[in-house]
Amino acid sequence: MEREEILSAIYHCVKCKLCSISSFHPTEEWLPLCPSGQFYGYQAFYAPGRLEIFREILEGELSEPAEGLLKSIYACTLCGACYEKCKQITSVEIRLPELFEELREGFVKKGWSLEVHKKIAEKIKETRNAYGENRKYEYEARSLYGADVLYFIGCTARYRVPEIADAMLGIFNKLGIKYQVLDEEWCCGSVLLRTGQVEAAKELMEHNIEAIKNSGAKRVVFTCPGCLMTFEKDYPDMGLELVHSTQFLTRWGNMEVKKLDMKVAYHDPCHLGRDLGIYEEPRAVLEEVADVKRMKREREQAWCCGSGGGVKSAFDDFALWSAGERLREAKEAGVEALVSACPFCKRNLNEAAEKEKEGIEVYDIVELVNRSLR
Ligand code: SF4
Ligand code: SF4
Repeated sequence: MEREEILSAIYHCVKCKLCSISSFHPTEEWLPLCPSGQFYGYQAFYAPGRLEIFREILEGELSEPAEGLLKSIYACTLCGACYEKCKQITSVEIRLPELFEELREGFVKKGWSLEVHKKIAEKIKETRNAYGENRKYEYEARSLYGADVLYFIGCTARYRVPEIADAMLGIFNKLGIKYQVLDEEWCCGSVLLRTGQVEAAKELMEHNIEAIKNSGAKRVVFTCPGCLMTFEKDYPDMGLELVHSTQFLTRWGNMEVKKLDMKVAYHDPCHLGRDLGIYEEPRAVLEEVADVKRMKREREQAWCCGSGGGVKSAFDDFALWSAGERLREAKEAGVEALVSACPFCKRNLNEAAEKEKEGIEVYDIVELVNRSLR
């Protein structure tokens, strides 16, 4: 973004702070919407505060960030809730998460980054995955090299919540779909791009583009909305169909499922909902397999699980608090399980559920589909 474009967006913010509230109708409950502002409790951690910091930097009023200022810039999950809310009440679109990413990119160029994020970049350089894992999963899909469908697993489902990858592969097998996974799948680069480390992501993107082209696949399926959004928004167009698992399943159609005896709530992952506008397909798939109850904050106004934008690695206390808030909202809806469609959400919500002993299960949609498929 050009400097003038950024400043124009910043000056369009009137600091009304309505982007921090999910509902402000007088007869409804006023629920918080911005997790970082709510957790840290003062202006620098809300969207307008971050914009003000950006303005001060651009206009030369701030030259050296203190530790607290670095925290306010990086302790934002880039969930986009502020952007959606602001869009509803102003006639100007202030593209807040993009501005915050731009700000982080500028910070990294000046050397103002967090050690923990630099370490992730080093791990990726060394091992090609965000967790620095050296082990490799062997998926039977290798033998189907050349199949039209390619499943891009992503670092989190590969190394932290493999039950999601297992469930997706189980679904392909039960539906008789031939699929492949990349022998050399590298991190998609999302964590680097979201933390301002744009240059380091380029090599990963080039590798993945080449590997996918060579695979001959026509359709790439993702269980990770972060990977999907990165391919949609940051990679060049490869002329392939890129789909989330829930889009793939709704388009596939002929699933014979047995509905599970479970009351669940659906948690919209930020990248899937607000960033990609995929709200209907996850709900359609989930309603096939379980009894779905509604939570108070959903769709554009969903409360973030707390783990995106590099927050989980740098500010785990904040990430788990945000997830705990979501679990309590699910409990209020009277459900026994909270279901998402993102490995990041599942990991963080699950950790919070174990820590806080909320007595609520956490699943990814594909796990329930795999369980209910005849
Ligand atoms: S970003 Fe939008 S909603 Fe938030 S304070 Fe600025 S003008 Fe108000
Ligand atoms: S992107 Fe999310 S966490 Fe960041 S300022 Fe906006 S609402 Fe708050």
